[in-house]
Amino acid sequence: MRLILLGPPGAGKGTQAQRLVEKHGIPQLSTGDMLRAAVKAETPVGLKAKAVMDAGELVSDAIVNAIVAERIDQADCAKGFILDGYPRTLAQADAVEAMLAERRIKLDAVIELVVDDKVLVGRIVRRAQEAATAGQPVRKDDNPEVFEERLREYYKKTAPLIGYYHAKGMLKGVDGMADIDAVTSQIETVLATAVQK
Ligand code: AMP
Repeated sequence: MRLILLGPPGAGKGTQAQRLVEKHGIPQLSTGDMLRAAVKAETPVGLKAKAVMDAGELVSDAIVNAIVAERIDQADCAKGFILDGYPRTLAQADAVEAMLAERRIKLDAVIELVVDDKVLVGRIVRRAQEAATAGQPVRKDDNPEVFEERLREYYKKTAPLIGYYHAKGMLKGVDGMADIDAVTSQIETVLATAVQK
């Protein structure tokens, strides 16, 4: 099963992706996580991406496309994967289509977590507080100022993907405002029909 989770920052993509990993035994490919790991390891990609990420802007398509292309060829992706936070631009959507076509694999579904913007800043602030309380590192871009920029980037560059996948008949919206378990069960319902086809 191959699927894309779409939605603004703070919509719950990461949380739902982790649940899908547990249930379906396929990996979560979060470009945000991969980029943060590159920043931490100070790789050439990480060094290029750091300032852009700290500002809440998008890293170049060329960088993220290359990271994903390399990742999906790893053995654990053979049975499928969950793309979380990728694609984020129309150029990335075209790139993922080409990548899958080249490998003769099919995308099963694109799931949009539909949320109300007004709750998002609060969720991000809470996420930062929870990480701090748990003694985990707090993401540098999880603060209200940078978050506004991340949201602007989402509407400018990522939201057009909703129309893109809708036109292909692949988009399924789920209510991301529902509680976490209810969102998970909506996603499972979508997948049950998408994967049967
Ligand atoms: P995320 O963890 O998905 O919220 O991503 C954190 C940051 O990583 C974003 O604000 C971007 O700077 C960068 N990033 C993650 N995924 C992508 C992507 N697909 N395209 C461009 N930049 C990305």
